[in-house]
Amino acid sequence: MPAKILDGKAVAKRIKDQLAAEFAALKAQGKLAKLVSLAVGSDDGTNSYRKSQLKQAEALGVAYAMEDLRADAPESAVVEKINMLNADKSVTGIILQMPVPKHLNGESLAKRIAPAKNIEGIDPVNLGSIVMKQYRNVPCTPRAAVELVIESGIDLNGANAVVIGRSTIVGKPAALLLLDKNCTVTICHSKSKNLPAICRNADILVTAIGTEAGMVKGDWVKPGAVVVDVGIIDIGGGKIRGDVDAESVSAVAGFLSPVPGGVGPVTVQMLYRNLLDALKA
Ligand code: NAD
Repeated sequence: MPAKILDGKAVAKRIKDQLAAEFAALKAQGKLAKLVSLAVGSDDGTNSYRKSQLKQAEALGVAYAMEDLRADAPESAVVEKINMLNADKSVTGIILQMPVPKHLNGESLAKRIAPAKNIEGIDPVNLGSIVMKQYRNVPCTPRAAVELVIESGIDLNGANAVVIGRSTIVGKPAALLLLDKNCTVTICHSKSKNLPAICRNADILVTAIGTEAGMVKGDWVKPGAVVVDVGIIDIGGGKIRGDVDAESVSAVAGFLSPVPGGVGPVTVQMLYRNLLDALKA
């Protein structure tokens, strides 16, 4: 029997409905969420990302504001703007749109956002709070990946979870989140030896690689395993694929998240879940 599809769009829709109800309830108490998107210069990628953020904000009844600085803005001007937004009590969450122009350092600028307002959660305080099990703004993609694992209904207690990828944005936080769900976690990366053999031991396999479409094959997978594919590889012609070879893996796995339509749609919802938590805090 082919693997059951972990339908990210359906999960996202359910989460969106829950979020909309919660935002509406808070609004009725006079608590209005405001998300600010800060861009330094802008390109097509930023514009289309903002369009989808705005659409989602409107659907949830969240105020969405765009702040734009010129592409040649010096670091001091960006820092000044971030400080202003940090101090503004009407602002619940801030997103610094990436990439920033080459003369700036996006990672160090993102650290200037107050951790409570950094709803993407990629900063030392928010990442560190996962280690301390005091979640606040949890990075959205790994949180979405774990959401899909939970969707499978698998018992996570003592399950063997393998995460391929050790990035700060996806792999490491995904591993910590699974550890907190009582999984026994192995993290693999580009220097790992015997990768297929390690993966074959996984009840849960999360792939966050992004180098080669379809790299993870069916013979890497334990029969019945839950496979969540985070990878996004542009294969041209406006199409994307994941790390997983869907055809061969689907014949072995119990559950598989597709690309597109798996982790991606859920990731967007996680951003707004963080915003909701920031509003409640
Ligand atoms: P990254 O490049 O920072 O990390 C990739 C990781 O893969 C590294 O830790 C590296 O060690 C590992 N790796 C590379 N080649 C490998 C190999 N041959 N064998 C084993 N491990 C190998 O990337 P990232 O930011 O963590 O993103 C990972 C993937 O997830 C990318 O495809 C990215 O586009 C995608 N992504 C998806 C979403 C989403 O919403 N679905 C969000 C963010 C990132």
